[in-house]
Amino acid sequence: MPKHFIIRTFGCQMNEHDSERLAGLLVADGMEQTDDMEQADVVVLNTCCIRENADQKLYGTLGSLKQLVDAKPGLQIAVGGCLAQKDRDRIQQKVGWVDVVFGTHNLGSAPGLLRRAAREGPVMEILDAPAPESISNHLMAPDAVRELPYAAWVTIQTGCDNSCAFCIVPSVRGPEASRPIAAIVGEVESLARRGVTEVTLLGQNVNSYGRDITRRRPLFAELLRAVGAIEGIGRIRFTSPHPKDLRPETIEAMADVPEVCEQLHLPLQSGSNRVLAAMRRGYTAERYLDRLAAARHAVADLGVTTDIIVGFPGETERDFEDTLAVVAEATYDSAYTFIFSPRPGTRAAEMEDEFIAPEVIAARFARLKAVVDRSALARHQARVGRTEEVLVEGVSRRDESMLTGRTRQGKLVHFAPTAPGMRGTPAPGALAEVTITAGHPHHLSGRLEAVTARPRHRVRIPVAGISVAGVPAAGVPVAGA
Ligand code: SF4
Repeated sequence: MPKHFIIRTFGCQMNEHDSERLAGLLVADGMEQTDDMEQADVVVLNTCCIRENADQKLYGTLGSLKQLVDAKPGLQIAVGGCLAQKDRDRIQQKVGWVDVVFGTHNLGSAPGLLRRAAREGPVMEILDAPAPESISNHLMAPDAVRELPYAAWVTIQTGCDNSCAFCIVPSVRGPEASRPIAAIVGEVESLARRGVTEVTLLGQNVNSYGRDITRRRPLFAELLRAVGAIEGIGRIRFTSPHPKDLRPETIEAMADVPEVCEQLHLPLQSGSNRVLAAMRRGYTAERYLDRLAAARHAVADLGVTTDIIVGFPGETERDFEDTLAVVAEATYDSAYTFIFSPRPGTRAAEMEDEFIAPEVIAARFARLKAVVDRSALARHQARVGRTEEVLVEGVSRRDESMLTGRTRQGKLVHFAPTAPGMRGTPAPGALAEVTITAGHPHHLSGRLEAVTARPRHRVRIPVAGISVAGVPAAGVPVAGA
């Protein structure tokens, strides 16, 4: 009888996709995936260390698993991902019932480590970098157990060569390592043959993709063109690009390749040049706005989202007002706003003398949110009356009588599942025309007009069976950039 495994994922899209790849490896090793903790013989926690409470989350989850470990002899607990890479042997020192610890560079070793732990007892294996010859294999996901048959994440690069003062990613994911274009194209071709129509290219800083291959200049524009030429792929998204590396040829490719969606996630982090310098971001507010203007000029109807940190150490009222001014000028479609939290091991964590009082941060956060929500609402209301191409995802989580899907700009649209004269409802993966009837700060409402393309994947998934939570949500940033 095969063993069953369950994976719990914390963190960003990169981790979600790592879990898909890990599931593929465990299935290839003869195991079966389950959603039922009681049925599991192996529990894998794929961890993240970006947010402040990541440690509490991991150790809290491990604590809650103790009862299950005691009740089920032979149950194996494995911890992988960024926090494992950072904490290494501390995890098994703190929690005696963890059988396997593996890091960000040796996901592929997890099945072997589980077998070894079953024979020999607890094991910990952390590599400091992926072996050079394993870069393309390490990142390949031909057998990943993907959540959706019509949309897929594709890793193009891992690691980051930047040193943003607030970010732990370079120390847990290592330096930038790009997959060869041919390997990425091969993977996307195989996805397209299986009926995938939308891919999201993932990397910590996609704009610098390929710089480590050529030792000269990034190859991201070439990659966009190569993926756009693959038959069957109708939508290409990517995340996250670093503003300092957003090059003219990338903007040109975004404008030229019809398959590239009109969507750009461009992390601002701060609108104050003083704070940007302290963050070591490598651009000024003026340069950021210039590049955003160039992208908007080249790509009509571009949806733009961003990340902003409130309360970086030393941020003054004047700095914060600079941020508000840039946010107002940028008129974002939405923004992921974060309260600064020190991550041990980062430069910003050492700036204790300049930490901002929590009540000051809270007040600034509320003011920022008001500006962001105002521009999001205005941009969404401006879409009322337009008919948009929507990729159907399934039943709305807010209202089971409605369907939900995303526009090319990555906007969530809720709409009734039928139109006059239409038989049946559009299945997940279908493309539909939806006329926007109302704009809200975080989504749109619409009216279904027609189904323009049926799903290309062979397995029809019942509408009610789709997990919307598993959608590679457009606009949700990967940790990075
Ligand atoms: S924020 Fe992005 S660009 Fe900066 S160090 Fe982290 S991953 Fe790299």
